[in-house]
Amino acid sequence: MISFEPTAEQRDLQRLAHEFAERELRPVAAEWDEREAYPPDLLAKAAQAGLTAYAIPAEYGGGGVDAVTSALIAEELSWGCAGLASTLQATMFPVRPLLRFGTKAQRARYLPLLARGEGTLAAIAFTEPHAGSDVGAISAEAKRDGDEYVLTGEKVYITNGGIADVTVVFAKTGDELAAFLVERGDPGVAAGRVERKLGLRASQTGSVLLDSARVPADRRLGDEGQGFEVALDFFQASRPQVAAGAVGVARAAFEYATAYAREREAFGRPILSRQGVGFKLADMAMLVEAARLLVWRAASAVDAGDDAGLLGSYAKAFAADAAMRITTDAVQVLGGAGIMRDHPVEKWMRDAKVFQVVEGTSEIQRHIVATYLRGGHGDRQGRG
Ligand SMILES: Cc1cc2nc3c(=O)[nH]c(=O)nc-3n(C[C@H](O)[C@H](O)[C@H](O)COP(=O)(O)OP(=O)(O)OC[C@H]3O[C@@H](n4cnc5c(N)ncnc54)[C@H](O)[C@@H]3O)c2cc1C
Repeated sequence: MISFEPTAEQRDLQRLAHEFAERELRPVAAEWDEREAYPPDLLAKAAQAGLTAYAIPAEYGGGGVDAVTSALIAEELSWGCAGLASTLQATMFPVRPLLRFGTKAQRARYLPLLARGEGTLAAIAFTEPHAGSDVGAISAEAKRDGDEYVLTGEKVYITNGGIADVTVVFAKTGDELAAFLVERGDPGVAAGRVERKLGLRASQTGSVLLDSARVPADRRLGDEGQGFEVALDFFQASRPQVAAGAVGVARAAFEYATAYAREREAFGRPILSRQGVGFKLADMAMLVEAARLLVWRAASAVDAGDDAGLLGSYAKAFAADAAMRITTDAVQVLGGAGIMRDHPVEKWMRDAKVFQVVEGTSEIQRHIVATYLRGGHGDRQGRG
């Protein structure tokens, strides 16, 4: 038997996340999108609601929920505002690398800190000016110097970049990749430029500058040469969550466009009664449902400890592309009103575009799928 029904506990958390999104995110989304910032009390409010640390195991003070439940929460938060949700979710980025590759001491130091949600922000940094899709092209260097590493390089387009208290940074130790837990106050670490963006504007995207930054050797995450493994393990777990965010944006736009089409009249009838509009909404409904099922399937593979690479790429590409199509069509269904900032659909369309780029572009997801089809494993290919 295959169950498509969330458990009672999952429904409770889904409801909690939805109510939080409805109360704390949706009403302020347009304002913070415009300001290109996030409300200073966002983290505290989310922490109070139990929505910052849900994926951290209970022994470290978190909610200890699995990937499927996390995806249910991610969809709701993004339904509220994908930009604000992304600030919260990036703070969960170091959790999986810490659990899978961290030492006991590293887990004991960082996980309770992230679980408390007292304003602690986190990030993960792969991207560089000349290394985006191609993670293997990372050129930041980490040189061992006694019981420290000296890190040099520039990380760009990092969610929470420059404001995160702890960032998982990927750098080369010779020919191989390694991951490091870099703290904001480490000597030689500085915040670089803050980007101005098309979408997800309520989430800060910035550079992290590493100018001979000194990081204690015991903050290396995993072994030297294990960085690629850390990265790929991270992507396998994170892609279903990012895809769930895309479903949240898509659903928001679908619901809004449907409600509008029921009310709006043209030529004496609600526009929903016109086949040209009804078919658009029917396609949106099917795409939302299909994308969500792929998310659940990929997240289930993560929970089962299976190779979730292929399913994660299916989910990520499908959900992001669906969100782009749905939000674009939602703008169309609203006509002129869709273009205006009085309605949220233009923002959702801008937000959806970002999902086709972050965490591996839609092309890279297809590249990974094609690699699997060739009988290989997507894992050695770029962000795959
Ligand atoms: C809002 C936002 C937040 C982000 N947050 C983070 C973060 O927290 N941490 C982080 O490390 N990075 C982050 N990124 C960076 C993001 O992951 C990269 O932008 C993304 O992986 C693409 O890399 P790139 O921008 O260098 O594009 P490129 O790699 O230069 O790609 C340019 C184009 O070429 C295409 N392309 C490249 N290679 C291939 C190929 N083999 N086959 C077909 N097409 C190809 C791409 O699909 C794309 O269309 C963020 C980006 C954004 C926009």
